[in-house]
Amino acid sequence: MHYTCPSCGAINRIPDDKQQQQGTCGRCKSDLFTGHPLELNDADFQRFIAKNDLPVLVDFWASWCGPCKMMAPIFTQVCGQMQHKVRFAKVNTEVAQHTSAQFAIRSIPTLILFHQGREVDRLAGALPAPQLTQWINQALSKI
Ligand SMILES: [Zn+2]
Repeated sequence: MHYTCPSCGAINRIPDDKQQQQGTCGRCKSDLFTGHPLELNDADFQRFIAKNDLPVLVDFWASWCGPCKMMAPIFTQVCGQMQHKVRFAKVNTEVAQHTSAQFAIRSIPTLILFHQGREVDRLAGALPAPQLTQWINQALSKI
């Protein structure tokens, strides 16, 4: 399995049977499974989406958006529970304007699940943790 380092962006190869364990980056030695979503911008978005063998769930948000702020701790909580199945990432739509336009983000928060660079499913609006987990599992079943 290929796993992009959240700290330096290096692509690490992890044996599939080690997925449940902790892993460290071969280049910078930092923890690969931090339990926190990764911030992506226009410069690193495509590479991160395409170079991960795990599906990537992206939260498109903005600092002025109230529901986004409610969603943030829920997103981090679910990330901690599902980080060995799904990569969690956040895109600030005010900063990453090119990426937000590319995926036609019209309402925020919008969540998009990607697999091997392709959009699998998307959700507009905030959800409580149990419903979010349910939606992710449902989206994963479409891969
Ligand atoms: Zn690294």
